[in-house]
Amino acid sequence: MKNIGILGGGQLALMMLPSIKSLGLTSTILDQKDAPCSTLADEFISGDFSLESDCLKLEKCDVVTFEIESISLEGLKKLEEKTKVYPSSKVLEIIQDKGIQKQFLKDIDVPTSEFFLETLTEESLVEGKVVKLRTGGYDGKGVWVPNGAEKPSSFLGEDCLIEDRVDIKKEVAVVCSRNLQGELVTYEMVEMVMNPDLNLLDYQVNPAKVSDALKESAKNITEKIAAKLEYVGTLAVEFFVDQNDELWVNELAPRVHNSGHNTIESAPCSQFENHIRAISGMPLGKTMPAKESMTMNLIGSGNTGPTQVLIPSELEEKAYYHLYNKKECRAGRKMGHVTLLGTLEEMKKLRLEIKEKVIITGEDK
Ligand code: ADP
Repeated sequence: MKNIGILGGGQLALMMLPSIKSLGLTSTILDQKDAPCSTLADEFISGDFSLESDCLKLEKCDVVTFEIESISLEGLKKLEEKTKVYPSSKVLEIIQDKGIQKQFLKDIDVPTSEFFLETLTEESLVEGKVVKLRTGGYDGKGVWVPNGAEKPSSFLGEDCLIEDRVDIKKEVAVVCSRNLQGELVTYEMVEMVMNPDLNLLDYQVNPAKVSDALKESAKNITEKIAAKLEYVGTLAVEFFVDQNDELWVNELAPRVHNSGHNTIESAPCSQFENHIRAISGMPLGKTMPAKESMTMNLIGSGNTGPTQVLIPSELEEKAYYHLYNKKECRAGRKMGHVTLLGTLEEMKKLRLEIKEKVIITGEDK
């Protein structure tokens, strides 16, 4: 029996649990005590994954993985001396720092916008440039895209990546899984539609509405990146398509990713199962044929408090709801997602109905 250790017990680890079980494996998860996985993992260890010493609490696991980039790199390196770790600390070291990541993309010659690195000064906050904190940003919070947005004075003096702004037509992503033997599968390219107010994913459409040539080119780039990283596990590559239909790699996520949540219902084998298969040395499952799908986030609204979910009964059977077992609901917090299957027209209609009628809120105490 193999025991899988996971650093981080949020929604991404939560969605790995059914695959771990169905493949006959067990889970040991490390995170703060009220994390979504705390009551559902086979074994839950309370700890802080950003601390080197706490990461080592997983040293007895047969293989260790992570669901979030902000874990301790030193902790991961130490774990590597004790057990198997996938993706490797080498991969995390490249991806955790957006500056190193960007240099890696340039070095392996994949298309990505021009950039430079600096301790941010006022002069770099100009139209045409996008500024990103090299470390610590997530869900758009460490990113400044000019566009009339207020200048991020808190970034001044921080280590930043400054890159050319891409005139974006679409944001798309390709998720792939690569196993220990180097076998690699890619999922259908998806299109991400952002919510401009929250800078979060609004909804995702699978497959992306782009030409086959563009899909093929993104697939080749994804395969090249995974091979160059000697990657093991599931990896997401986020791209921009510009107004001239050129592809640009935006960034990499060394883990299962929200652009692959649809694969639970739309692919024969999900990104979560393939991640577990890849890191435990199993052959990978099929990613095709893919059913058309649409996936949307379920975002908290109203008061902060214990989570209350209101799904009208007529909508319950029409879609696949995934709630993340977060005990406290706050306005703007990602509380779950829902995937719809069907024709594009049907899904567009149903999405608006769900957006209006499904409510996740914190009730008054
Ligand atoms: P995070 O890692 O926090 O999600 P991203 O690098 O994905 O940050 O950036 C968040 C969003 O900002 C992107 O989805 C995109 O809409 C916009 N953005 C990021 N980089 C650029 C760029 N070079 N040009 C134009 N828009 C960008």
